[in-house]
Amino acid sequence: MKKSVKQVKKVARPSVKEAEAAVKVLIAWAGDNPEREGLLETPKRVVNAYREFFSGYDVNPEEVLGKTFEEVEGYNDIVLLKNMRMESHCEHHMVPFIGKAHIAYIPDKKVVGISKIARLLDIFSKRLQTQETMTAQIADTINKVLKPKGVAVLIDAKHQCMTTRGIHKTETTTITKRMTGDFKKADMEQKFLSMIAINSNF
Ligand SMILES: [Zn+2]
Repeated sequence: MKKSVKQVKKVARPSVKEAEAAVKVLIAWAGDNPEREGLLETPKRVVNAYREFFSGYDVNPEEVLGKTFEEVEGYNDIVLLKNMRMESHCEHHMVPFIGKAHIAYIPDKKVVGISKIARLLDIFSKRLQTQETMTAQIADTINKVLKPKGVAVLIDAKHQCMTTRGIHKTETTTITKRMTGDFKKADMEQKFLSMIAINSNF
């Protein structure tokens, strides 16, 4: 049995008031006074920013890919979305990791609107993540819903937990990839890697 993508177990959301109070505690922990003028509205702003950063929990990624098209005039080659900007937050430090995602699949009769693939990336990136988990989840969701001949996902990102704190390796990027089906063959993986290396000039 193939492991399916784990669903996040829901926990009760605290109220806006409780979330704002938690931000005040963190401001005090940083050493500042949450009651000084410049910081009075900060808890509200942070709570709103969190809504946006973590908006991926309320959406079912499989449903987003649900509407597929079968009329593809026999198209059976790689469909690649490359250089998609991704922004996420690592689950270890809750700081951003930002980079590029490249997602490809080889359809087997079914294709999906290409913006849906980008949407899938956003859903998983707007959750607390490790880059490794996210890469696998994107590939496995496409695999499960579209049942294509193969899926390739590569993410290349800079982690602020490494660049702005801790080990301070500012230029380091982290690459993770997941190949399924036909992309597991060395020549197909190589084809995918060379396609994402081509610079487009429009
Ligand atoms: Zn981290």
